[in-house]
Amino acid sequence: MNPADFNTTNTPTWCPGCGDFGMWASLKEALIKLGITPDSALVVYGIGCHGHMINFLKIYGFQGLHGRPLPVAAGVRLVNPDLNVFVVSGDGDCYGEGMGHFIAAARANYNLTLIVHNNQVYGLTTGQTAPTTDQGTKTKSTPLGVIDFPVNPIALAINCEANFVARGFAGDIPHLADLIVQANQHPGFSLVDVLQPCVTYDKVHTYPWYRERIYKLEDKSLPALTSRMTGRQGYDPTNFEQAILKAWEWPPKAGIDTATVDQIPIGVLFKQNRPTFESQLPQLDNGPLAGLNLTKTLIDDLIETFK
Ligand code: SF4
Ligand code: MG
Repeated sequence: MNPADFNTTNTPTWCPGCGDFGMWASLKEALIKLGITPDSALVVYGIGCHGHMINFLKIYGFQGLHGRPLPVAAGVRLVNPDLNVFVVSGDGDCYGEGMGHFIAAARANYNLTLIVHNNQVYGLTTGQTAPTTDQGTKTKSTPLGVIDFPVNPIALAINCEANFVARGFAGDIPHLADLIVQANQHPGFSLVDVLQPCVTYDKVHTYPWYRERIYKLEDKSLPALTSRMTGRQGYDPTNFEQAILKAWEWPPKAGIDTATVDQIPIGVLFKQNRPTFESQLPQLDNGPLAGLNLTKTLIDDLIETFK
């Protein structure tokens, strides 16, 4: 497989320079590294600029209601736990309309790979305030500045005991592709929140703005041998307390001016190995619904069990 094998005949309609292009490229690169073919996995999309990807990425896809890709994907996992399921969502879709589903899916720990196009704005509807928009930002829906404190999806996912929590940057395709591969290979609920410049409606969080601030957590990690020899500790994503502190480096806690923040960590912030929801479901002991030979008699029997 090569990236072009995952292209449909449609031309992307994203604005030239949009971070969505880098995320599309990263996902294709990750699918190839994972050995996935267009007929061997499913991507469930939300509504937003990110959701246009269903038209450009050649793989099984489903796009439904705004904010609801996670419950759809969870349902697919319960019916067919052998299917590799990705969810592509946006900050508005996932942390606004879909916030309850985000918390529920992370707590349940469904085996899903969630990739969020976090551009801190509602792009498709032309630039309104989103859940991740910085306090004080003036948009067409908050002309006097945002009053609410922004959502910190990384801290939230860690506190919901998600199994794998990472942040990537749409302007670093090889690094983001590697994070998606790691997320997909890690069992359980995996979040890759991605810094995605919206070049049309956000003139602050540009590619240079991010490049000046981001650093890679793996650069702060030390091999175990070096740690033992020097006594210095690197970043350890399996350390819950360290991960929570790291999650609050950006966005900063209330009271700190975001303009003064010059460090944004990307990479794997947290990982653990909680059992997945699916693996604990006794109803799947006799095999998933997708594996049954659905004769009329069997369907009638199944319906009887719900009476
Ligand atoms: Fe990308 Fe923003 Fe244009 Fe949407 S509006 S395609 S997020 S640049
Ligand atoms: Mg958005």
